[in-house]
Amino acid sequence: MNINDTDRTPGGAILMDGNKVRDELIVDIAKRVAADGSPKICLATVLVGDDKPSQVYVRSKQRKAAEAGLESRHIGLDGASSQTQVQDAVQELVDDPAVHGILVQLPLPDGLDPEPVLDLIPPIKDVDGLTERSMGRLVRNKPGHAPCTPTGIMRLLERYDIATSGSRAVVIGRSTLVGLPQVLLLGRKGVDATVTLAHSRTADLVEVCAGADIIVAAAGTAGLIGAEHVKPGAAVFDVGISRTEDGIVGDVRFDEVQAVAGAITPMPGGTGPMTIACLMENTYNAARMLA
Ligand code: NAD
Repeated sequence: MNINDTDRTPGGAILMDGNKVRDELIVDIAKRVAADGSPKICLATVLVGDDKPSQVYVRSKQRKAAEAGLESRHIGLDGASSQTQVQDAVQELVDDPAVHGILVQLPLPDGLDPEPVLDLIPPIKDVDGLTERSMGRLVRNKPGHAPCTPTGIMRLLERYDIATSGSRAVVIGRSTLVGLPQVLLLGRKGVDATVTLAHSRTADLVEVCAGADIIVAAAGTAGLIGAEHVKPGAAVFDVGISRTEDGIVGDVRFDEVQAVAGAITPMPGGTGPMTIACLMENTYNAARMLA
């Protein structure tokens, strides 16, 4: 990376710009698709019901897919759909060789169980990396897809030349969507961080975090991480999204942490855009694996 083209916060920390790195990654995927002879690569999205934020997420994924040279297909199902109807729709996509990646937008409306729906998706088409088989492949280091948010953080670490080998990392949050896969990705051979997993029952989070070179805050607790948690020069990634009276805020108190950290993601504009970029990369990789 050319460090000179990097923005810094008022306190001097590198601003890990998720929008910029997402755009770079999308352009790169588009180039890879073109170099492959522009095969048709299709990301299918499934949305049940008319939840407005979910509609916005799905639309932005479709927009970014087009920019990456991918096609998208959308299946919108009525909120009153039965479990069988949802599963039949997903099964059709599973069976369709023209579909490479399947994304079921969660949460599903009340009364629908996401587990049997996700279980239908084979690991190669599970571009969200959400199913238990995908998690198993991640643990066993077999071909498949890791969840997009922790993968996006790995891309930011690479893009901003943040050393991981021998570093100490703390991941806050133990969900299967973010925290657990993040622990696995940071601790992988070749990445080689020594990782601590913190959660809601962790005693003395300040002490746990204060020795960390890398902090990934994925608790969904507004303003959880302050300057007192952060070692000077540490890289801090904010994943949490909380809707408050002041608008959307992250887990990290940006203003105070940027004065101590060596690198920090903004919220918004940090880990969120990277999540979408990695969904496109997983879809591209799925098509390569299925070819
Ligand atoms: P989750 O609710 O499943 O998990 C939260 C985890 O945080 C739990 O393991 C819990 O033990 C831990 N936790 C909660 N409060 C804590 C505290 N005070 N101290 C320490 N640990 C605490 O949530 P999730 O699905 O992993 O999502 C986490 C947050 O990330 C949410 O705000 C979500 O909206 C956001 N999110 C952001 C992106 C993105 O792209 N930026 C993607 C997915 C999720």
